[in-house]
Amino acid sequence: MTGRGGDLDTATADPIARDDRVPFFRHDLGAAELAAVAEILSGSILTTGEAVARFEHLFADYLGRRHCVGLTSCTGALHLSLAALGIGPGDEVITTPMTFIASTTSIIQAGATPVFVDVEKGSGNIDAALIEAAITPRTRAILPVHLYGQMCDMRAIRAIADRHRLAIVEDSAHCVEGARDGIRPGQLGDTACFSFYATKSLTSGEGGALVTDDGALAGRARLLRHHGMDKSAHARHGSVYQHWDMVAFGWKYNMDNIQAALLLPQLERIEAGHARRCALSDAYRQALSGIEGLSLPPVIPGVRHAEHLFTIRVDPAHRDPLLRHLGESGIGTAVNYRAIHLLDYFQRTLKAPHGSFPAAEAIGDRTLSLPLYATMPQHHVERVAAAINAYFREPHCRAP
Ligand SMILES: *Cc1c(COP(=O)(O)O)cnc(C)c1O
Repeated sequence: MTGRGGDLDTATADPIARDDRVPFFRHDLGAAELAAVAEILSGSILTTGEAVARFEHLFADYLGRRHCVGLTSCTGALHLSLAALGIGPGDEVITTPMTFIASTTSIIQAGATPVFVDVEKGSGNIDAALIEAAITPRTRAILPVHLYGQMCDMRAIRAIADRHRLAIVEDSAHCVEGARDGIRPGQLGDTACFSFYATKSLTSGEGGALVTDDGALAGRARLLRHHGMDKSAHARHGSVYQHWDMVAFGWKYNMDNIQAALLLPQLERIEAGHARRCALSDAYRQALSGIEGLSLPPVIPGVRHAEHLFTIRVDPAHRDPLLRHLGESGIGTAVNYRAIHLLDYFQRTLKAPHGSFPAAEAIGDRTLSLPLYATMPQHHVERVAAAINAYFREPHCRAP
């Protein structure tokens, strides 16, 4: 076992798997993670315990934040952040329609009302210049998303939040390693929320966390992540059984020791993985530079891009045919994202018509995501570029 990529390979069991397939994503969990999980299994605490505490300490440390609360998802982290901030029914939270649905469903889970603001045409991040026009007496928070790994303009968003006494909950699911003008996730927000879902750059299959510099908020999140119970399993089952009390209404979002064990070894190679994705991203830029009909989201000056997703943009008439062409060429792709206000449920409930958020809709009609992960072989970049090139060169591939 090498500890990187392939140790837990099940691709050979997949009847459609081919040697020349270019997967969209592969995790790089291996020997180190197996050993870490084995250590947990040899102990007695499977749920939240010492491994979670160790992860929380190291993850907060990596981000330069004071506190980290280990959770079961980023969706839970967003919901819990809002709940811990006391945001609920009657409150409005400003967010972006260019994101995964969880950024918005978490607001609804908290009982609050999402209010969309359009995004910057280039980066796809919430447009800070449009936020103030959306603020009402009910607005309590702003929930920006650091799309693809480029941080939003947090200085501008913090200034607006301060003027209107609003909280900020950052959806940092794409942005672990990123920074902007020296600002890192969670530094100017009340909390920043992370995902350790199966295709994220740190993964425990499912998992999440929030970070904050506010000790009281961290304490509240810790209480609410576990039913509002005032004692953890670890504390209840010491040598003498301890009674516990329920002191608040809470949820069930606590990270367990197995998830933490999977994450701990990945923290040690986090910068190496980021460097590798940066190199692949540069290779993509080079390989795609000559292809007409394709553009890339601009890199914002002063940004350290977390390089979670590598996206390209094409004419809307070409997007779905190109997706099909790449799929048929054995190349994994995704769309991050179609503007979420246009999805069926939000159409029925929030009722923002087509044209409400033109910049988000323009990206949603044009974007597609190419394979990018730390252990991706360099020659796959050339395979992907060649397939895209072929699509635009060969008339039979083109959209009707
Ligand atoms: C993945 C993702 C989430 C949800 O993360 P989970 O851990 O699956 O809940 C939220 N927001 C964004 C932008 C994401 O990419």
